[in-house]
Amino acid sequence: MSNTGSCLCGAVHYEISAPITDTGACHCDMCRKWSGGVYLGVEVAADNMMISGSENVTTFTSSEWAERGFCKTCGSSIYYRITSPGAHHGSYHVSMGTLDQTDGIALKGEVFIDQKPKGYSFAEETEQLTGAELMALFAPPESP
Ligand SMILES: [Zn+2]
Ligand SMILES: [Zn+2]
Repeated sequence: MSNTGSCLCGAVHYEISAPITDTGACHCDMCRKWSGGVYLGVEVAADNMMISGSENVTTFTSSEWAERGFCKTCGSSIYYRITSPGAHHGSYHVSMGTLDQTDGIALKGEVFIDQKPKGYSFAEETEQLTGAELMALFAPPESP
């Protein structure tokens, strides 16, 4: 079964040709401002993501390693995409909020937990990483 989604106005549609079982939350300041709330992303390999109406997507380069795609008409935050070279190049983190159906998708992880606003928390048991812990996972190994 494939998963479909769209932005609010419908100018951008997508289809994901892989099962989705889990989502992760990012509490970083950038994701919060970009999504307007808590960002929940589902990881999708580049080959499994098909976008129609991509001419209606505007991208914002938010860091040296990623860009964020949003609908230029309605502003829906559609995806975060890795642009740096390496194993994850081109992979998407699609906004869970833009999926047409979300049954069977469970919250498994939370990153930048140290930047989460103090006034709310998820009830699910999740694997939590601080920003520093997350960056350490992706940082190149120290040269001797
Ligand atoms: Zn739209
Ligand atoms: Zn983030």
